[in-house]
Amino acid sequence: MKKTLSVSAINHGTVIDHIDAGQALKLIPLLKLNHDHYQITIGLNLTSTLMGSKDIIKINDLHLTEKEAAQIAIFAPHATLNIIDDYSVIRKIKARLPQEIRSILICPNKNCITAHETVESLFHVSSFKNKVHLHCNYCEKIFSKHEIEEYST
Ligand SMILES: [Zn+2]
Repeated sequence: MKKTLSVSAINHGTVIDHIDAGQALKLIPLLKLNHDHYQITIGLNLTSTLMGSKDIIKINDLHLTEKEAAQIAIFAPHATLNIIDDYSVIRKIKARLPQEIRSILICPNKNCITAHETVESLFHVSSFKNKVHLHCNYCEKIFSKHEIEEYST
């Protein structure tokens, strides 16, 4: 039987697999992919034997790195980044939580100094019982990832 190339196959780029369902749309602004010209395919609520349902993001012509894998881990701790060249996976990177996140997230506390002055945001990351906690370095409040809705652009 002749193997047909699936529409979803990409020649060169990155496939972010095993994203927790519903989180893919958060990753696009987080990775600032909406500012670039890359071709992006997003799959939402796909069936996954491992997770029940999952999201997938495919980005043409861009190889993501460990740095992005750390950012992705905040919203998708089970994600795997498949780095693709010539239609094959040349590298897999597991999303892994960073210890701190600088300048990307915006503190939801309106009284936080970062909301009023041009201070680069800084969150310390910890996880407890599978929940990610983000601890603002400035106002010292602790947020869950669901409470962070804005990213700096
Ligand atoms: Zn704060």
